[in-house]
Amino acid sequence: MIEYENLRLVNEPFFESYRNSFSDTLESGWFILGNKVSSFEREFAAFCGSGYCAGLASGLDALILALRCFDFPEGSEVIVPSNTYIATILAVYHNGLVPILVEPDIQSYNIDPAKIEEQITDRTRAILVVHLYGKACDMDPVMEIARKYNLRVIEDCAQSHGAKYKGKQTGTFGDFGAFSFYPTKNLGALGDAGAITTEDQVLYEKVKALRNYGSRIKYQNEYIGTNSRLDEVQAGFLSVKLKKLDEITSHKRRLAGLYHEGLKTDFVKPVVNPDYFDVYHIYNVRHPERDRLRAYLLENGIKTEVHYPVPPHQQVALAGKFKGCYPISEEIHRTTLSLPISYGHKVEEIERVIEVMNDF
Ligand SMILES: *Cc1c(COP(=O)(O)O)cnc(C)c1O
Repeated sequence: MIEYENLRLVNEPFFESYRNSFSDTLESGWFILGNKVSSFEREFAAFCGSGYCAGLASGLDALILALRCFDFPEGSEVIVPSNTYIATILAVYHNGLVPILVEPDIQSYNIDPAKIEEQITDRTRAILVVHLYGKACDMDPVMEIARKYNLRVIEDCAQSHGAKYKGKQTGTFGDFGAFSFYPTKNLGALGDAGAITTEDQVLYEKVKALRNYGSRIKYQNEYIGTNSRLDEVQAGFLSVKLKKLDEITSHKRRLAGLYHEGLKTDFVKPVVNPDYFDVYHIYNVRHPERDRLRAYLLENGIKTEVHYPVPPHQQVALAGKFKGCYPISEEIHRTTLSLPISYGHKVEEIERVIEVMNDF
Protein backbone atom coordinates (compact mmCIF):
# COMPACT_ATOMS: atom_id res chain seq x y z
CA MET A 1 0.00 0.00 0.00
CA ILE A 2 1.27 3.47 -0.87
CA GLU A 3 -0.27 5.81 1.68
CA TYR A 4 -1.36 9.33 0.89
CA GLU A 5 0.68 10.50 3.84
CA ASN A 6 2.15 8.82 6.91
CA LEU A 7 2.93 11.40 9.59
CA ARG A 8 5.05 8.97 11.56
CA LEU A 9 7.38 8.54 8.56
CA VAL A 10 7.40 12.27 7.86
CA ASN A 11 8.52 12.98 11.43
CA GLU A 12 10.80 10.01 12.06
CA PRO A 13 14.01 11.80 10.95
CA PHE A 14 13.41 14.34 13.75
CA PHE A 15 12.50 12.01 16.63
CA GLU A 16 15.77 12.41 18.51
CA SER A 17 15.82 16.20 18.19
CA TYR A 18 12.16 16.37 19.21
CA ARG A 19 12.93 14.31 22.33
CA ASN A 20 15.82 16.62 23.24
CA SER A 21 13.69 19.69 22.71
CA PHE A 22 10.81 18.27 24.75
CA SER A 23 13.20 17.34 27.52
CA ASP A 24 14.56 20.94 27.59
CA THR A 25 11.06 22.31 28.04
CA LEU A 26 10.14 19.72 30.64
CA GLU A 27 13.25 20.52 32.67
CA SER A 28 12.80 24.28 32.28
CA GLY A 29 9.39 24.27 33.93
CA TRP A 30 8.31 27.12 31.58
CA PHE A 31 5.47 26.11 29.25
CA ILE A 32 3.78 29.23 27.87
CA LEU A 33 5.37 32.19 26.01
CA GLY A 34 9.00 31.50 26.87
CA ASN A 35 12.30 31.16 25.03
CA LYS A 36 11.19 28.41 22.66
CA VAL A 37 8.34 30.52 21.32
CA SER A 38 10.44 33.67 20.94
CA SER A 39 13.28 31.72 19.29
CA PHE A 40 10.92 30.08 16.82
CA GLU A 41 9.29 33.44 16.05
CA ARG A 42 12.71 34.96 15.26
CA GLU A 43 13.74 31.97 13.17
CA PHE A 44 10.50 31.83 11.19
CA ALA A 45 10.51 35.60 10.51
CA ALA A 46 14.09 35.25 9.22
CA PHE A 47 13.13 32.23 7.11
CA CYS A 48 10.26 34.15 5.49
CA GLY A 49 12.25 37.35 5.08
CA SER A 50 9.67 39.10 7.18
CA GLY A 51 10.14 41.70 9.91
CA TYR A 52 8.08 40.02 12.62
CA CYS A 53 6.40 36.73 13.46
CA ALA A 54 3.96 36.01 16.30
CA GLY A 55 3.20 32.39 17.23
CA LEU A 56 -0.47 31.48 17.65
CA ALA A 57 -2.59 28.45 18.47
CA SER A 58 -3.67 27.60 14.89
CA GLY A 59 -3.87 28.74 11.29
CA LEU A 60 -7.53 29.66 11.73
CA ASP A 61 -6.62 31.90 14.67
CA ALA A 62 -3.87 33.52 12.58
CA LEU A 63 -6.50 34.50 9.99
CA ILE A 64 -9.02 35.60 12.62
CA LEU A 65 -6.55 37.75 14.57
CA ALA A 66 -5.01 39.26 11.41
CA LEU A 67 -8.47 40.47 10.35
CA ARG A 68 -9.35 41.54 13.90
CA CYS A 69 -6.40 43.94 14.06
CA PHE A 70 -8.07 46.34 11.64
CA ASP A 71 -11.34 46.80 13.56
CA PHE A 72 -13.34 46.94 10.33
CA PRO A 73 -16.94 48.03 10.86
CA GLU A 74 -19.37 45.11 11.15
CA GLY A 75 -20.64 44.00 7.74
CA SER A 76 -17.51 45.17 5.89
CA GLU A 77 -16.65 43.00 2.90
CA VAL A 78 -13.57 40.88 2.43
CA ILE A 79 -12.67 39.45 -0.97
CA VAL A 80 -11.75 35.74 -0.75
CA PRO A 81 -11.26 33.00 -3.37
CA SER A 82 -14.29 30.77 -4.03
CA ASN A 83 -12.14 27.65 -3.84
CA THR A 84 -10.32 27.39 -0.56
CA TYR A 85 -10.34 25.41 2.63
CA ILE A 86 -13.32 26.48 4.76
CA ALA A 87 -11.08 28.06 7.44
CA THR A 88 -10.35 31.06 5.21
CA ILE A 89 -14.03 31.91 5.02
CA LEU A 90 -14.80 31.09 8.66
CA ALA A 91 -12.17 33.63 9.75
CA VAL A 92 -14.14 36.35 7.95
CA TYR A 93 -17.42 35.36 9.65
CA HIS A 94 -15.76 35.14 13.07
CA ASN A 95 -15.04 38.88 12.71
CA GLY A 96 -18.62 39.82 11.80
CA LEU A 97 -17.49 40.51 8.22
CA VAL A 98 -18.91 39.38 4.88
CA PRO A 99 -16.87 37.17 2.54
CA ILE A 100 -17.22 38.02 -1.15
CA LEU A 101 -16.22 35.03 -3.25
CA VAL A 102 -14.09 35.58 -6.34
CA GLU A 103 -13.50 32.74 -8.80
CA PRO A 104 -10.04 31.24 -9.29
CA ASP A 105 -7.97 30.95 -12.43
CA ILE A 106 -8.47 27.41 -13.76
CA GLN A 107 -4.71 27.04 -14.44
CA SER A 108 -3.28 28.17 -11.09
CA TYR A 109 -6.34 27.36 -8.90
CA ASN A 110 -5.66 30.70 -7.17
CA ILE A 111 -7.83 33.82 -7.11
CA ASP A 112 -8.12 35.40 -10.57
CA PRO A 113 -6.95 39.02 -10.13
CA ALA A 114 -8.89 40.03 -13.26
CA LYS A 115 -12.14 39.22 -11.44
CA ILE A 116 -11.46 41.09 -8.20
CA GLU A 117 -12.20 44.66 -9.24
CA GLU A 118 -15.79 43.99 -10.34
CA GLN A 119 -16.57 42.74 -6.79
CA ILE A 120 -15.27 45.81 -4.98
CA THR A 121 -17.91 48.02 -3.35
CA ASP A 122 -17.76 50.91 -0.89
CA ARG A 123 -17.91 48.31 1.90
CA THR A 124 -14.83 46.35 0.74
CA ARG A 125 -11.99 46.61 3.24
CA ALA A 126 -9.58 43.76 2.48
CA ILE A 127 -8.45 41.08 0.07
CA LEU A 128 -7.70 37.72 1.69
CA VAL A 129 -5.73 35.65 -0.83
CA VAL A 130 -4.89 31.96 -0.42
CA HIS A 131 -1.70 30.49 -1.89
CA LEU A 132 -3.42 27.18 -2.52
CA TYR A 133 -1.63 23.82 -2.86
CA GLY A 134 1.75 25.56 -2.29
CA LYS A 135 1.65 27.90 -5.29
CA ALA A 136 1.78 31.66 -4.75
CA CYS A 137 -1.01 33.86 -6.11
CA ASP A 138 -0.31 36.34 -8.87
CA MET A 139 0.55 39.06 -6.35
CA ASP A 140 1.51 42.03 -8.58
CA PRO A 141 -2.04 42.69 -9.82
CA VAL A 142 -3.52 41.89 -6.37
CA MET A 143 -1.27 44.47 -4.69
CA GLU A 144 -2.00 47.01 -7.43
CA ILE A 145 -5.76 46.67 -6.87
CA ALA A 146 -5.26 46.91 -3.10
CA ARG A 147 -3.30 50.16 -3.50
CA LYS A 148 -5.83 51.60 -5.93
CA TYR A 149 -8.79 50.99 -3.58
CA ASN A 150 -6.88 51.35 -0.31
CA LEU A 151 -7.58 47.78 0.82
CA ARG A 152 -5.70 45.66 3.35
CA VAL A 153 -4.16 42.42 2.10
CA ILE A 154 -3.92 39.24 4.15
CA GLU A 155 -2.26 36.13 2.77
CA ASP A 156 -3.45 32.68 3.83
CA CYS A 157 -0.10 30.86 3.76
CA ALA A 158 -1.31 27.65 5.43
CA GLN A 159 -0.20 25.68 2.35
CA SER A 160 2.68 27.84 1.14
CA HIS A 161 5.60 27.83 3.64
CA GLY A 162 8.61 28.90 1.57
CA ALA A 163 6.72 29.35 -1.73
CA LYS A 164 7.84 32.38 -3.77
CA TYR A 165 6.45 34.77 -6.36
CA LYS A 166 9.11 36.54 -8.44
CA GLY A 167 11.72 35.63 -5.82
CA LYS A 168 9.74 36.96 -2.83
CA GLN A 169 8.21 34.65 -0.24
CA THR A 170 4.54 34.31 0.46
CA GLY A 171 3.61 36.01 3.71
CA THR A 172 5.67 39.13 2.87
CA PHE A 173 3.42 40.87 0.32
CA GLY A 174 0.38 41.90 2.33
CA ASP A 175 -0.19 43.40 5.76
CA PHE A 176 -0.12 39.89 7.20
CA GLY A 177 0.87 36.36 6.29
CA ALA A 178 -1.21 33.79 8.21
CA PHE A 179 0.43 30.39 8.65
CA SER A 180 -0.80 27.05 9.93
CA PHE A 181 1.53 24.43 11.37
CA TYR A 182 -1.14 21.72 11.49
CA PRO A 183 0.71 18.38 11.37
CA THR A 184 0.08 17.72 7.66
CA LYS A 185 1.35 21.13 6.49
CA ASN A 186 4.80 21.44 4.92
CA LEU A 187 6.05 22.82 8.24
CA GLY A 188 3.91 20.75 10.59
CA ALA A 189 3.99 20.63 14.38
CA LEU A 190 2.93 17.62 16.49
CA GLY A 191 -0.37 19.26 17.31
CA ASP A 192 -2.11 22.52 16.49
CA ALA A 193 -0.06 25.64 15.91
CA GLY A 194 0.00 28.75 13.74
CA ALA A 195 1.59 32.18 13.30
CA ILE A 196 1.33 35.52 11.59
CA THR A 197 4.14 37.34 9.81
CA THR A 198 4.13 41.09 9.22
CA GLU A 199 6.42 44.00 8.41
CA ASP A 200 4.46 46.34 10.63
CA GLN A 201 5.62 46.59 14.23
CA VAL A 202 2.34 48.14 15.41
CA LEU A 203 0.26 45.30 13.92
CA TYR A 204 2.70 42.76 15.34
CA GLU A 205 2.37 44.20 18.84
CA LYS A 206 -1.41 44.20 18.51
CA VAL A 207 -1.54 40.50 17.51
CA LYS A 208 0.74 39.69 20.46
CA ALA A 209 -1.71 41.44 22.76
CA LEU A 210 -4.79 39.87 21.12
CA ARG A 211 -3.41 36.35 21.51
CA ASN A 212 -2.97 36.92 25.24
CA TYR A 213 -6.35 38.27 26.44
CA GLY A 214 -5.72 41.65 24.85
CA SER A 215 -2.97 42.35 27.34
CA ARG A 216 0.51 43.82 26.82
CA ILE A 217 1.21 44.31 30.51
CA LYS A 218 0.13 41.57 32.90
CA TYR A 219 -3.40 42.13 34.28
CA GLN A 220 -3.90 45.24 32.10
CA ASN A 221 -6.27 44.60 29.19
CA GLU A 222 -6.40 46.94 26.22
CA TYR A 223 -8.47 44.85 23.82
CA ILE A 224 -11.17 42.18 24.01
CA GLY A 225 -8.56 39.56 23.26
CA THR A 226 -8.53 35.81 23.25
CA ASN A 227 -6.27 32.96 24.27
CA SER A 228 -4.38 31.88 21.17
CA ARG A 229 -0.82 31.24 22.27
CA LEU A 230 1.66 28.94 20.59
CA ASP A 231 3.02 26.73 23.37
CA GLU A 232 6.65 26.06 24.22
CA VAL A 233 6.55 22.36 23.37
CA GLN A 234 5.19 22.89 19.85
CA ALA A 235 7.50 25.87 19.24
CA GLY A 236 10.48 23.65 20.12
CA PHE A 237 9.35 20.98 17.65
CA LEU A 238 8.81 23.64 14.98
CA SER A 239 12.34 25.01 15.44
CA VAL A 240 13.69 21.51 14.93
CA LYS A 241 11.72 21.00 11.73
CA LEU A 242 12.26 24.51 10.35
CA LYS A 243 15.98 23.73 10.04
CA LYS A 244 15.03 20.99 7.56
CA LEU A 245 12.22 22.80 5.76
CA ASP A 246 14.34 23.57 2.69
CA GLU A 247 15.22 19.88 2.49
CA ILE A 248 11.55 18.90 2.86
CA THR A 249 10.64 21.35 0.08
CA SER A 250 13.41 20.07 -2.22
CA HIS A 251 12.19 16.52 -1.69
CA LYS A 252 8.62 17.46 -2.54
CA ARG A 253 9.74 19.45 -5.58
CA ARG A 254 11.77 16.47 -6.77
CA LEU A 255 8.71 14.19 -6.48
CA ALA A 256 6.57 16.81 -8.26
CA GLY A 257 9.16 16.86 -11.06
CA LEU A 258 8.74 13.09 -11.47
CA TYR A 259 4.95 13.47 -11.80
CA HIS A 260 5.37 16.40 -14.16
CA GLU A 261 7.70 14.46 -16.48
CA GLY A 262 6.12 11.04 -16.08
CA LEU A 263 2.34 11.43 -16.07
CA LYS A 264 0.58 11.15 -19.41
CA THR A 265 -1.28 14.17 -20.76
CA ASP A 266 -4.76 12.77 -19.97
CA PHE A 267 -4.27 14.32 -16.54
CA VAL A 268 -4.28 18.08 -16.11
CA LYS A 269 -1.11 18.74 -14.13
CA PRO A 270 -0.18 21.83 -12.09
CA VAL A 271 1.32 24.60 -14.24
CA VAL A 272 5.00 25.29 -13.88
CA ASN A 273 6.14 28.87 -14.44
CA PRO A 274 9.61 30.36 -13.78
CA ASP A 275 8.10 33.28 -11.83
CA TYR A 276 6.75 30.87 -9.22
CA PHE A 277 8.66 28.71 -6.75
CA ASP A 278 6.06 26.09 -5.79
CA VAL A 279 6.34 24.02 -2.59
CA TYR A 280 3.70 21.40 -3.45
CA HIS A 281 1.85 21.16 -0.18
CA ILE A 282 -0.50 19.27 -2.51
CA TYR A 283 0.21 17.83 -5.95
CA ASN A 284 -3.13 17.66 -7.70
CA VAL A 285 -4.19 16.49 -11.13
CA ARG A 286 -7.59 16.96 -12.69
CA HIS A 287 -9.51 14.35 -14.63
CA PRO A 288 -13.17 14.24 -15.72
CA GLU A 289 -13.55 10.78 -14.16
CA ARG A 290 -11.89 11.67 -10.89
CA ASP A 291 -13.93 9.29 -8.70
CA ARG A 292 -13.34 6.31 -11.00
CA LEU A 293 -9.62 7.17 -11.15
CA ARG A 294 -9.48 7.39 -7.37
CA ALA A 295 -11.18 3.98 -6.94
CA TYR A 296 -8.87 2.44 -9.55
CA LEU A 297 -5.79 3.74 -7.73
CA LEU A 298 -7.07 2.37 -4.43
CA GLU A 299 -7.65 -1.08 -6.03
CA ASN A 300 -4.01 -0.89 -7.05
CA GLY A 301 -2.83 -0.06 -3.53
CA ILE A 302 -2.50 3.71 -3.89
CA LYS A 303 -4.27 6.08 -1.53
CA THR A 304 -5.20 9.58 -2.64
CA GLU A 305 -7.17 12.53 -1.26
CA VAL A 306 -9.52 15.17 -2.63
CA HIS A 307 -8.81 18.82 -1.76
CA TYR A 308 -11.65 19.53 -1.56
CA PRO A 309 -14.82 17.54 -2.30
CA VAL A 310 -17.36 20.29 -1.45
CA PRO A 311 -16.84 23.96 -2.45
CA PRO A 312 -17.42 26.48 0.36
CA HIS A 313 -20.57 27.97 -1.21
CA GLN A 314 -22.18 24.49 -1.14
CA GLN A 315 -21.36 23.75 2.49
CA VAL A 316 -24.37 23.24 4.75
CA ALA A 317 -22.94 25.70 7.27
CA LEU A 318 -22.95 28.47 4.66
CA ALA A 319 -26.27 27.64 3.01
CA GLY A 320 -28.04 30.67 1.57
CA LYS A 321 -25.10 33.03 2.09
CA PHE A 322 -23.85 33.25 -1.50
CA LYS A 323 -26.00 34.31 -4.41
CA GLY A 324 -23.43 34.11 -7.21
CA CYS A 325 -22.45 31.22 -9.51
CA TYR A 326 -19.08 29.64 -9.05
CA PRO A 327 -18.67 27.23 -11.99
CA ILE A 328 -14.85 27.26 -12.02
CA SER A 329 -14.65 26.41 -8.34
CA GLU A 330 -17.24 23.66 -8.84
CA GLU A 331 -15.29 22.27 -11.80
CA ILE A 332 -12.10 22.11 -9.70
CA HIS A 333 -13.90 20.46 -6.80
CA ARG A 334 -15.48 17.90 -9.17
CA THR A 335 -12.28 16.90 -10.99
CA THR A 336 -9.32 17.37 -8.65
CA LEU A 337 -7.32 14.53 -7.12
CA SER A 338 -4.33 14.86 -4.79
CA LEU A 339 -1.51 12.36 -5.29
CA PRO A 340 0.97 11.15 -2.64
CA ILE A 341 3.82 13.69 -2.27
CA SER A 342 5.21 13.79 1.26
CA TYR A 343 8.65 13.95 2.86
CA GLY A 344 8.04 10.30 3.79
CA HIS A 345 7.59 9.10 0.19
CA LYS A 346 10.42 7.51 -1.77
CA VAL A 347 11.14 8.06 -5.47
CA GLU A 348 10.27 4.42 -6.23
CA GLU A 349 6.81 4.88 -4.72
CA ILE A 350 6.10 7.90 -6.90
CA GLU A 351 7.37 5.98 -9.95
CA ARG A 352 4.90 3.24 -9.10
CA VAL A 353 2.05 5.78 -8.81
CA ILE A 354 2.99 7.18 -12.24
CA GLU A 355 3.07 3.69 -13.79
CA VAL A 356 -0.38 2.82 -12.43
CA MET A 357 -1.81 6.24 -13.39
CA ASN A 358 -0.55 5.91 -16.94
CA ASP A 359 -2.36 2.56 -17.30
CA PHE A 360 -5.69 4.18 -16.45
C1 LIG B 1 -5.01 24.20 7.09
C2 LIG B 1 -5.55 25.45 6.54
C3 LIG B 1 -6.06 26.46 7.37
C4 LIG B 1 -6.31 26.30 8.85
O1 LIG B 1 -5.23 25.95 9.61
P1 LIG B 1 -5.46 25.28 11.06
O2 LIG B 1 -4.10 25.32 11.67
O3 LIG B 1 -5.96 23.90 10.83
O4 LIG B 1 -6.43 26.12 11.79
C5 LIG B 1 -6.46 27.66 6.79
N1 LIG B 1 -6.38 27.84 5.46
C6 LIG B 1 -5.92 26.89 4.63
C7 LIG B 1 -5.86 27.17 3.16
C8 LIG B 1 -5.51 25.65 5.12
O5 LIG B 1 -5.08 24.71 4.30
